[in-house]
Amino acid sequence: MSNDCPKTGGAYIITVIIDVLTPFGRGGTVQPGTYLYVGSAYGPGGLAARLSRHARKHKRRHWHIDALTEGRGVNAIRIYPGSDECVLARELAERCRAVKGFGSSDCDCPSHLFRSDDPEGDMPPGGSDVEPSSIKAGLTVSAL
Ligand SMILES: [Zn+2]
Repeated sequence: MSNDCPKTGGAYIITVIIDVLTPFGRGGTVQPGTYLYVGSAYGPGGLAARLSRHARKHKRRHWHIDALTEGRGVNAIRIYPGSDECVLARELAERCRAVKGFGSSDCDCPSHLFRSDDPEGDMPPGGSDVEPSSIKAGLTVSAL
């Protein structure tokens, strides 16, 4: 498993485990379970900056996903440098159940959040793992 989280841009998938019914957006809810969330970071600080944000449990809520990282935090991270998040979302849609309308306000995808009974097996090929604890500790991010 790699601990390197690049400052460059790319797409990523984070695994979150939800223990309680969690509302999002206008009337949406996420049932307890294990989920894969697809996003991308092409702004300043790239993947490292965005994943560092996801790893923080306390923050002002801005995206739908922020409500899901407050409980147990981020369970696993896989990065796809240079990739398109919507392509990954379409791949996940073929194997997982989409949570309609989650995280896809800015695109045509039905969702960017998927319930999965086999998060490892459902991950699209081509990514590389980043250890969440290395992000939380801030070691990787500050070393960049
Ligand atoms: Zn999309």
